[in-house]
Amino acid sequence: MPIEEIFKEYGEAHFRNLEREVIATLPESDCVVATGGGCVQSAENAANLRHDSLVFFLDVSPDVSYGRISESSRPALTDKDPVDEVKYLINLRYPAYLRSSDFRIDADRESEAVADEIIRIIADAATPVSDSDIAAGEDSAGVLRYRKVMSSFSGVPMPEKKSEQLFSYVKKHPLGSICAIAGRPSGHSRTPYLFNTVFERYGITAHCTYLEKETAGEVADTVRSCGLRAVSVTIPFKEDIIPYLDEINEDARAIGAVNTVFNTGNTCGAGGRLIGSNTDWYGVMKPLVASGVRVKSKKAAVIGAGGASRAAVYALMKLGADVTVVNRTVERAEKLAADMNASLIEGGCLQTDGKPVEIPCKAGGTDMLREIMPDIIINATSIGMRAEDTPVDRENRVCLRKGVCVFDLVYTPPVTRLLFEARTAGCTVISGVEMFVYQAAEQLFRYFGIRVDADEIRNILR
Ligand code: NAP
Repeated sequence: MPIEEIFKEYGEAHFRNLEREVIATLPESDCVVATGGGCVQSAENAANLRHDSLVFFLDVSPDVSYGRISESSRPALTDKDPVDEVKYLINLRYPAYLRSSDFRIDADRESEAVADEIIRIIADAATPVSDSDIAAGEDSAGVLRYRKVMSSFSGVPMPEKKSEQLFSYVKKHPLGSICAIAGRPSGHSRTPYLFNTVFERYGITAHCTYLEKETAGEVADTVRSCGLRAVSVTIPFKEDIIPYLDEINEDARAIGAVNTVFNTGNTCGAGGRLIGSNTDWYGVMKPLVASGVRVKSKKAAVIGAGGASRAAVYALMKLGADVTVVNRTVERAEKLAADMNASLIEGGCLQTDGKPVEIPCKAGGTDMLREIMPDIIINATSIGMRAEDTPVDRENRVCLRKGVCVFDLVYTPPVTRLLFEARTAGCTVISGVEMFVYQAAEQLFRYFGIRVDADEIRNILR
């Protein structure tokens, strides 16, 4: 049955189900699949298409696209005028096209030029780089990429054998995706292990490594020169990286920090835009929601006024909580609250339920905790990494009572003294591991278009 008839008779939802079934049962090898533009909005389709495949995004401007399809029998998907519909859909879906594909091809050109480029990339991607190619000074795309990666990553501190793994990956997959954890230090991060395990399971040609540079500027230069697909940014670069990016999204702007950078360019060339966003606040919001904790209009206290605290306050305000930041250095708490109020309340930010954020964030010293008697307590300090330490001292321990939710962002150890005492007092407790799990799941989605279940990530990290 032709597509337009399926749409007419059964509607778009039915068509999308059929599309999903077909994509899920494609042969495992030796086939070329051309999809419609709507299919990669489904993460399940993106994962199935990506499995052991190369995915090309044929990037067509709305005018050219309209010119090509105006004579076709393509069914309307909105009630907009056809020219506006094409523009609207391309803009809406563009992020999905980028994250779900390996290569973006400018397809406003003649089809022969487009086909030539695809054929060339397939050949380059499938041609491993040998030591003799490198010694002979070849200037193939693969050798050029290998040289760039070698010069940018040689001497970068990494755990044992990790640089050899990166260089041998690039030799084998010269145009393969590379991502990295950028921090100083970064060798302790579990992100490369997690991501590389996911890539293996999901059949994605990608490798995650460590990018420990002196400055955020050097991090951004490496992303551009080596055509890295993405970097996950950690201390001390989360704020410093911002001036080096081409764009940051609303969440990152409000929080004032970026932990997620996506490069829209291809692995084999420069010219990509670096787009910064923040998934740390997801890492706070999602576990609260998944644990069934009621947050709207509830009193919440965030202990600490650093970067993690900003993400936590943002998540709580987006969920409609009445938030107070308490910190050893009160001025830092006051500055954080003022910044958040400026961006969320004066900036007209919406809660996750679509209503405007209205309750201003307050600030004070840690002794305020027992005055507030919060329903939700989030520890966003590093206190708790040593087994004997807790950010809720004896005077404040009265706050740990039945029905209160205590979320400790510290994740080593997974059960801190605070969580142990809170659990003993009958609180609902959430470990910092959960924040790591959910922020990483969201990064995998933003980098590769795949949705990896929180349980699967927890199992990998175990
Ligand atoms: P940060 O910017 O350095 O902020 C640290 C905060 O802790 C500051 O407010 C500081 O107070 C306070 N603090 C530190 N030592 C203290 C002490 N001895 N007594 C009282 N207050 C103290 O750190 P961050 O980047 O926000 O990270 C905070 C925590 O969140 C870390 O443990 C980090 O590992 C964790 N985190 C977890 C995840 C995850 O995925 N689970 C992600 C990000 C961060 P002052 O302002 O007075 O100095």
